[in-house]
Amino acid sequence: MEKRAEVGIIGGGIIGLATAYELASRGFRDLVVLTASFPGDGSTFRCASGIRASFTTREHIVLMRESIRKWIEWTRGELGRLGLRFMQKGYLWLASTEERVRAYEESIRLQNKLGVPTRLVDPDEAKRIVPVLDTRHLVAALHDPTAGKASPFKTVHALVMYLKSHGIPIHTYTRAEKIEEREEGFRVETSRGTYFFEKLVVAAGAGSPRLLSQLGIETMIKNIPRHAILTEHYKPVIGPLVVDPDTPGAPYIIQTGHGGFYIGRKIPETPETEPYSLKIDYPSLAIKPLLKWFPWLINVTVLRHWMGHYVTTPDHHPIIGPVPGHRNLYVSTGYSGHGYMLSPAAAEIIADYILEGKPKWTEAYRLNIMRIWRGDYIHETAIVG
Ligand SMILES: Cc1cc2nc3c(=O)[nH]c(=O)nc-3n(C[C@H](O)[C@H](O)[C@H](O)COP(=O)(O)OP(=O)(O)OC[C@H]3O[C@@H](n4cnc5c(N)ncnc54)[C@H](O)[C@@H]3O)c2cc1C
Repeated sequence: MEKRAEVGIIGGGIIGLATAYELASRGFRDLVVLTASFPGDGSTFRCASGIRASFTTREHIVLMRESIRKWIEWTRGELGRLGLRFMQKGYLWLASTEERVRAYEESIRLQNKLGVPTRLVDPDEAKRIVPVLDTRHLVAALHDPTAGKASPFKTVHALVMYLKSHGIPIHTYTRAEKIEEREEGFRVETSRGTYFFEKLVVAAGAGSPRLLSQLGIETMIKNIPRHAILTEHYKPVIGPLVVDPDTPGAPYIIQTGHGGFYIGRKIPETPETEPYSLKIDYPSLAIKPLLKWFPWLINVTVLRHWMGHYVTTPDHHPIIGPVPGHRNLYVSTGYSGHGYMLSPAAAEIIADYILEGKPKWTEAYRLNIMRIWRGDYIHETAIVG
């Protein structure tokens, strides 16, 4: 027999779980989350945990600013009591050239205008923010004090605990295989039986394009591999995420709450590669360019290396909202490497569409799938890794 609920969410990554949380916290309970394996599996547990509003488009800056407000709210509320913790340690964007400094000045003007207090700092101040930084090659840096980090493991754990304690089912190891659109809703065949939902949210990360294509919906998304490495634990020495956009592949480093250095860098990749295809030379490709800033990294011990997907749209902005021509279908995907940080705001946008008919932030309208179909792209340049 078919299992039924008013709302079905496909995907138990940060986006699906946060959306379920947002609905449940507003008193809406008739929903089910289906996910192909365990909660957090996918990009979420592979991510660097960085959270920032230092972007270059109005849509990203405003929605990330609101997301940070919600990360703080989450930390202070019930999710915080369940272990979620946003650590507001900032981002430091390094500049090795005057040209980069000019670009930072321009983005700082827009960020400040939109309420994000980023500013340019000189090498001495950068050293005060990150005392272990070698500033000999530094011209200046953009400091974003509102940014920060939060362990994806603790965040997912808190969301799952919250949903469980509020009676919201998360059906794990339940892969959606076939979606049929009917007059009154959606019939979803899964690896563990059939479901019927009046409203459907597709938040399946790298699995979203394939599911949506079954309904004739083109997303133009590419699942692009991104690698990362993690070292042994060390005493806390780096507060912010530090990124060097002047080196090809924008290498970055962030120290986790446990003390491990999480290091990433973009390298040439083939889209759609399976998440377990590692590259043997990646650790040195990622660490070497950072030796210029942190020479002592030569002595750290690498523990792990993995790969996940940046589920990437043509303009590096997500697709969030209803799909014209498909009643009661909502998409929340294509986060292009920024889905963890945006998850609280993204969840609010989808919950607003479902419960109120429209989102409260005007910037959210532009993230509709129509912009992809029309080629009406929003141009983002502040991309890490
Ligand atoms: C190396 C790396 C570093 C990153 N760093 C950051 C960062 O610092 N900050 C940031 O904001 N973002 C970062 N990201 C991006 C971030 O991880 C993603 O944007 C975010 O996790 C997307 O969440 P999601 O829920 O959409 O997808 P996922 O976490 O991939 O979750 C999707 C879920 O859907 C399930 N699923 C898929 N297909 C189906 C199906 N057919 N049926 C049922 N379930 C299905 C999957 O099993 C998975 O659990 C990084 C990504 C990578 C790879």
